[in-house]
Amino acid sequence: MASTDYSWKIVRISKADYETIEATCEHCGEACTFNRREDFSHVGPYAGENVNCTHCGREFRIVGDTINAPHELFIFAAKEHFREKRYMLAVTTMAQAWELFFSMFAEATFLYRPFFSSSKGTRELAKLRALQAAMRQVLRRSTHCEIF
Ligand SMILES: [Zn+2]
Repeated sequence: MASTDYSWKIVRISKADYETIEATCEHCGEACTFNRREDFSHVGPYAGENVNCTHCGREFRIVGDTINAPHELFIFAAKEHFREKRYMLAVTTMAQAWELFFSMFAEATFLYRPFFSSSKGTRELAKLRALQAAMRQVLRRSTHCEIF
């Protein structure tokens, strides 16, 4: 069995947002952008994923993804849009941040808090999942982007 030494190929993610991450290829020095939905089997956070450079095709390993809540990533993006004087984009991005925050708040308040405050013997996971699906269906109708 061949040993794999990734010590020289590990690259820290230089920029991370809700949709993408950026890292500089260890081999050719080019900046690579990867989409969380298209380029990975899960949306993150990434702490040791192998990727192929979008320029030279060689493999390297990425670490150091952000662990912030999704709504915070939208707030960071809105700040960047605001600095760039893209005000309409900043407002739209803040609206998405609020939508994500409120859906997270609704689930925490109306689903998880009652579920975890009940005694362990009475918790019904199937009931929680059914309520979660119903809540998401209702919330989906009151947003302008798909949250889940
Ligand atoms: Zn490369």
